Amino acid sequence: MSRAAMPPGSFQVRDGELMAGGRSVTELAAEAGTPLYIYDSGLIAARVSELRAAMPAGLDLHYAIKANPLPAVVGLLAGLVDGLDVASSGELERALATGIPVSRISFAGPGKTDAELRMAATAGVTVNLESAGEMRRLAAISSALGTRARVAVRVNPLFELRQSGMRMGGGPKQFGVDEEAVPALLAELAGLPLEFLGFHIFAGSQILNGEVLIDCLEKTVDLATRLAADAPAPVRYINLGGGFGIPYFPGEAALDLGRIGGALGPLLARGRAACPDAAFAIELGRYLVGEAGLYVSRIVDRKVSRGKTFLVTDGGLHHHLALSGNFGQVIRKNYPLAIAGRMNMPATETADVVGCLCTPLDRLGDNVALPETAVGDLVVVFQSGAYGASASPAGFLGHQPAAERLV
Ligand SMILES: *Cc1c(COP(=O)(O)O)cnc(C)c1O
Repeated sequence: MSRAAMPPGSFQVRDGELMAGGRSVTELAAEAGTPLYIYDSGLIAARVSELRAAMPAGLDLHYAIKANPLPAVVGLLAGLVDGLDVASSGELERALATGIPVSRISFAGPGKTDAELRMAATAGVTVNLESAGEMRRLAAISSALGTRARVAVRVNPLFELRQSGMRMGGGPKQFGVDEEAVPALLAELAGLPLEFLGFHIFAGSQILNGEVLIDCLEKTVDLATRLAADAPAPVRYINLGGGFGIPYFPGEAALDLGRIGGALGPLLARGRAACPDAAFAIELGRYLVGEAGLYVSRIVDRKVSRGKTFLVTDGGLHHHLALSGNFGQVIRKNYPLAIAGRMNMPATETADVVGCLCTPLDRLGDNVALPETAVGDLVVVFQSGAYGASASPAGFLGHQPAAERLV
């Protein structure tokens, strides 16, 4: 039996009620309606402070908007971090709308269209080049605009993440320019109307093993400083990626930030010695927002089928695909899950929690230990602040989208 659980050190409980941003989740759900995402601004700010305290001084912290593009969340983070990383013109618009200086916005991602490149060049944000073809198209656009677009070269490293996590570098990839092809690309770049700033290297995502993460950051710093020898101008910007993971499932533990920060100190010193003009950055998505978010749905029906209890809610995979196990997982596992108004009650039954879609894939929790529940109770899923609403097939089956509130 998998236990209902709440991750340690996050949301508070008052008189058996789960709280977010100083208010009860029950009250927030009554106000906004269900299904509902709640993001706690205090927890996001605390996470940023915790990172700042643990990382070496002067390391820039960027937010990768794709983890949670809600304008209120992007606006909050724009005031807390040193840069915003976008991956589409839509995200670029949201980043620009925060008023953060354009020099602090970078635009990565394969398949940028001419219209997107023109928008980036006009705005003056940094374009992380994903290929030689993209570089040439941007150069032509820069020429036509009479400007020199700011660029960094995204590198697809030869090394791969040793284990765990979602790999986005190493081997043949649609991301970045192969490490071995970078010197020739830089030689060509030198003759184009582009302003070269530096490198962007992102090896992968959701890394929970500190040793793997440190190893990856070390290889990344060394690769960037090696490539700097072929740069057409002094390197001013090195984005080391990130990939800091968060624990979603039973048995997973949080990263030891102190250890990672401790290892990064000497690495950064090495990087700065080789590239004294460079600002070094890490770009994080889920690590900043994932643990600060709840997904709340209401129990609409309780039924027993051949001895198994089902709690049927008004939510589902159309709002939270990852929770259902269909966003990259191989074996479905339960996110931590609880009942908002019954936090102090012991678990007395085991139930399957499902959504309202007509597909057996629509599962919120399998064999979850829960207190006695009734129709109308609120099921809360933790670790839901990243890759939720915006990473789910909201149009599937024509239900209403989930509400989203930053509190
Ligand atoms: C998705 C992505 C991120 C954010 O990944 P997280 O796992 O949410 O931290 C950062 N950088 C790039 C280039 C990405 O594609």
